[in-house]
Amino acid sequence: MAEAATQMKVSDEIAITITKMNKWYGSFHVLRDIDLVVNRGERIVICGPSGSGKSTLIRCINALEEHQQGSIEVDGTLLSSDLKNIDKIRSEVGMCFQHFNLFPHLTILENCTLAPIWVRKTPKKEAEETAMHFLEKVKIPDQANKYPGQLSGGQQQRVAIARSLCMRPRIMLFDEPTSALDPEMIKEVLDTMIELAEEGMTMLCVTHEMGFARQVANRVIFMDAGQIVEQNEPEAFFNNPQSPRTQLFLSQIL
Ligand code: ADP
Ligand code: MG
Repeated sequence: MAEAATQMKVSDEIAITITKMNKWYGSFHVLRDIDLVVNRGERIVICGPSGSGKSTLIRCINALEEHQQGSIEVDGTLLSSDLKNIDKIRSEVGMCFQHFNLFPHLTILENCTLAPIWVRKTPKKEAEETAMHFLEKVKIPDQANKYPGQLSGGQQQRVAIARSLCMRPRIMLFDEPTSALDPEMIKEVLDTMIELAEEGMTMLCVTHEMGFARQVANRVIFMDAGQIVEQNEPEAFFNNPQSPRTQLFLSQIL
């Protein structure tokens, strides 16, 4: 399994650079001196205890949360309060959450074409063709005219992934995409993510699916109390964790 990950290419080109980034919620210092460079094609799994700042970090990368110190650069664009930069970064970064956040009153197809039509001004027919392409990719083209409530959780999450892909992102962020799913549906979502990884998508995934981390990640990052405590390639990370905090965490989840 580890071989699969090493065969996937990582380019020398840099996709994301985070330098000395700090964030506070009011007086609460939630992210501390985060330094992280992500190369194009990298697949990074972020793990750590609840409340350690994983979601906040992911959300800072596409400006769903504001950081107060340090810098975040995505594809050469500096994330600043300049709305143009924020728009540019968001157009390149797709995101999938634990709760799929599909629009319940729109069909699966409409969920997938909404942003391309209204944000990108893509002609409807073209947007629908693209949507069908990605619904085929996540293996549910036959559900295109149903509503989210008629689909299983695993299917809804795959729609959410397809919907993100319709915006042609260069980077995908995942925040615990399988943690709201029944066990039998986890695999179908992970399989979709594995396929994306194999196609070279740059991915940052917050997940506690350690089998996925071993198979797909080229780097695992452990966060605790707002810091990156440790990072390593999966084999070394799981077999030989250095920090006592990482050791404790792994002993609790493995
Ligand atoms: P994780 O994803 O690792 O569980 P989060 O990034 O969600 O952690 O949260 C990190 C810390 O920040 C937690 O203590 C959480 O309670 C706090 N927090 C998260 N969101 C907010 C917010 N909007 N306002 C204030 N505190 C928050
Ligand atoms: Mg979280």
